[in-house]
Amino acid sequence: MLSVAEARERILSHFHPAAEENIPLIECANRALAVDIIAAHDLPSFDNSSMDGFAIRAVDSRNAAASSITLSVVADIPAGSAPTVTLTQGQAARIMTGAQIPSGADAVIAVEDTDFNDRSANTLAPQTVSFTRAVKIGENIRPRGMDLHAGETVLQKGHRLKPQDLGLLAMLGMGHIRVYKKPRVALLSSGDELLEVDAPLSAGKIHDSNSYALAALIQNAEADLLRLGVAKDTHQSVEGLLQKAVDEQVDLIVSSAGVSVGAFDFVKEVIESNGSLNFWRVNMRPGKPLAFGEYRGIPFLGLPGNPVSALVGFEVFVRPAIKRLSGQLDGTRLTVKVRCGEEIESDGRESYLRAKIRNENGIHIATLTGHQGSGNLLSLVQADALLIIPAGVKCVPVGQEVDALLL
Ligand code: AMP
Ligand code: MG
Repeated sequence: MLSVAEARERILSHFHPAAEENIPLIECANRALAVDIIAAHDLPSFDNSSMDGFAIRAVDSRNAAASSITLSVVADIPAGSAPTVTLTQGQAARIMTGAQIPSGADAVIAVEDTDFNDRSANTLAPQTVSFTRAVKIGENIRPRGMDLHAGETVLQKGHRLKPQDLGLLAMLGMGHIRVYKKPRVALLSSGDELLEVDAPLSAGKIHDSNSYALAALIQNAEADLLRLGVAKDTHQSVEGLLQKAVDEQVDLIVSSAGVSVGAFDFVKEVIESNGSLNFWRVNMRPGKPLAFGEYRGIPFLGLPGNPVSALVGFEVFVRPAIKRLSGQLDGTRLTVKVRCGEEIESDGRESYLRAKIRNENGIHIATLTGHQGSGNLLSLVQADALLIIPAGVKCVPVGQEVDALLL
């Protein structure tokens, strides 16, 4: 039997980032960068005020603590204007937050520290301004290059763009960004027992639930989804639905069920007759059977049919594959250390157990959410993490530290 890590490595070696494209910044959230981003200019790109106030020469305020200082206001600098004055001794300029510091000035005194505290719109600048506080050089000034300098690498290739990254790219004036294309993933359910979600239940039938949960996971992994629907347990039905994935040339086909050794497991047969299939038994629980192969040149990952196995298999194998396809270097799910709040028995396979985590005086304590059968979806609904019990471990005592994959 393969270990989880071996199976994942074998799978990932077949996946490479999809093609690149140059797209408008507004469409770039969650995409992975296909290039390093180098700053074309300093940020901020000019010395500017961090307060509404008066730009001054700090030296003129030296004696302000002893007695009130009065400066003459020689200019008014709103945000967005290019100051033309040069302050000389005894002079100040009214200045707004974000406005460029005039030459000659080396500090800003906030409006609330002066005798002029009228901040309503349309107020004209006063003739003079007085204050009683010495101001330090650089006070309330955001100097050019404070955040970053031209030529610095700001973000690296493979980085998944967060909202604040888009803000920074906009600050750098980058309207189009070279990113990896979104992978396209086709999803297939299979089984004669499966009904559409709104069909009334009848004897022996169940609703197809995997295609809803897996669809959401695929989209959550930032891939475009192609729903192939539910195949009957026949060769023709499976082949017919897979044709759509071939026509659309998706980057990955994901299926649930139909790949074990049952008499009606036609997905397996169809993949084998039009490509190749490795059927692996992975040393994990739930989700031991895992199929990996290629269908008419498209990578194929066959997850088990049991709902919990399918979703755990997605987190362990499919999400990393999609991540690789989308060119991302940084992960999307966090694994943290938690302490077991109860004794946990395991069967020696690498186990992914559904658990709830609570914070007790700063320590994260995990307790199982209930029946751990691979068909018991409720316990996964109630869980906020999967505890990872390593292979070879049969019993984890109360208080022991284990890894938890946060859902
Ligand atoms: P199989 O791999 O076809 O033997 O299916 C294993 C178990 O998963 C059976 O109990 C199936 O009824 C169940 N199952 C398969 N596909 C789905 C699905 N799409 N939604 C919910 N349960 C499923
Ligand atoms: Mg079946």
